[in-house]
Amino acid sequence: MTASPPLVEPFDLVIFGGTGDLAVRKLLPALFHRFLDGQIPASSRIIGIAREALDDDGYRALLRQALVGICDAAKLDVFLQQVGYRSLDARKDDGWADFAALIKSQPEHVRVFYLSTSPDLFVDICGRLGEHGLNQGKSRVVLEKPIGRDLDSANRINDAVGRVFNESQTFRIDHYLGKETVQNLLVLRFGNALFEPLWNAGHIDHVQITVAETVGVGHRAGYYDHAGALRDMVQNHMLQLLCMVAMEPPSSLEPDAVRDEKLKVLNSLKVIDDSNVNQLTVRGQYRAGVAEGASVPGYPDELGDTKSNTETFVALKAEIGNWRWAGVPFYLRTGKRLPSRVSEIVVAFKPVPHSIFSADSGTLAQNRLVLRLQPDEGVKLWLTIKHPGPGGLRLRNVPLDMSFAEAFGVQQPDAYERLLLDVVRGNPTLFMRRDEVEAAWRWAGPVLAGWANSSESPRPYAAGTWGPSAAVALIERDGRTWHDESE
Ligand code: NAP
Repeated sequence: MTASPPLVEPFDLVIFGGTGDLAVRKLLPALFHRFLDGQIPASSRIIGIAREALDDDGYRALLRQALVGICDAAKLDVFLQQVGYRSLDARKDDGWADFAALIKSQPEHVRVFYLSTSPDLFVDICGRLGEHGLNQGKSRVVLEKPIGRDLDSANRINDAVGRVFNESQTFRIDHYLGKETVQNLLVLRFGNALFEPLWNAGHIDHVQITVAETVGVGHRAGYYDHAGALRDMVQNHMLQLLCMVAMEPPSSLEPDAVRDEKLKVLNSLKVIDDSNVNQLTVRGQYRAGVAEGASVPGYPDELGDTKSNTETFVALKAEIGNWRWAGVPFYLRTGKRLPSRVSEIVVAFKPVPHSIFSADSGTLAQNRLVLRLQPDEGVKLWLTIKHPGPGGLRLRNVPLDMSFAEAFGVQQPDAYERLLLDVVRGNPTLFMRRDEVEAAWRWAGPVLAGWANSSESPRPYAAGTWGPSAAVALIERDGRTWHDESE
């Protein structure tokens, strides 16, 4: 029998940007699921904050629409009784004193301030939280990405937050790290004797990390055009995944033991700059095409600007300059308007040194460990076996499949469910430390500068394809191919 998940300490969770897309679509459903599992104490309060003039009932009505399908109405009503709302403008003083009094009415509660707003409000919000003395006791602040758009802007945000909250109170969230598969990567690597002896340049040929989206930028074109795929996906999520694959075994799962090892990986990434950016990276920008069965416009049409040089796709070849990974390429690929929505890590092992099989037995494929983060979380280990039955020795490449949902008969919790409760518990293992964010920007900065100094523009690709053909060439010129299970 599985034990019930433990109750956490009573808390007040304040979501700045409580009416926004992230809060309504992800954070509140995650909290409702934890409530349904009995982890949220009855005295805990969840308070949404935004400028919109709503009262508690108006906010609950808004959330009811988003949460109604999850469970029966009676339970939803009980949950919503723990939810409230305050209309506040992060940039104005009005209402903050009342809000502070509300929070201070429960001095024993853990306080979580989740900043689910544009980062240009982080400084104002933290400043006012400090002025009103709300960083007392067990207080934590959660910062959503993006933390800056380069090293300087990230430092400005971190400095401002740091004037009010110390590092141990600051939780920089990367929801990829809360995914079940990513946690399982830690257990696979460090809980089995099988993989670790092979987990190095002697046995691993290369690693691929793909984060593919079918959606375009839609109404977020304005925001996205200031970011691009490298800032939006690579600098944070994909580098964090790369770290989880590549880090040395930490001495324990203590937060700083894990984060120290990730930091070493980030600091060991080889520089990509003006001198090699055109060889090691491919930028793309989608044009009109067919995605998800419908004709869709290109990025310049959605943005209303045909001159934008912002990349909606990037493929790159990264290398880690240390003993374990010398000479092992890490191919990273992400983009919008790609043919399928998939996030996965592929660890491709070296071929056997000598084949004893005749050519008519078929080809010996590489062993590949595929860790799928979405849409269906799970792990597959591709192995070569004999095709069963008579008919000679025929080789088959088949996956040992461990789909989590099927294997354990449970619905996988959303990453935010785990991460939100980790914040309440005060466990920062799965959150980025300031020096990690800085190291990631130190690596990404020269790539962005290299592109800015290059005469090349992002290459166009039709929506619904796997990006520019140069992205295929990037890996094929090394004699490798992007992993494709449909082959
Ligand atoms: P959004 O839908 O635009 O919501 C922004 C929220 O901030 C709204 O509730 C808005 O309400 C509030 N707000 C704006 N100005 C304010 C002010 N001066 N004072 C107080 N509240 C203010 O944005 P989102 O998609 O939820 O994203 C929030 C943040 O999370 C962004 O930094 C985004 O990059 C990041 N993020 C989002 C996602 C996602 O899936 N959406 C994923 C990862 C990271 P009012 O206008 O009524 O004030």
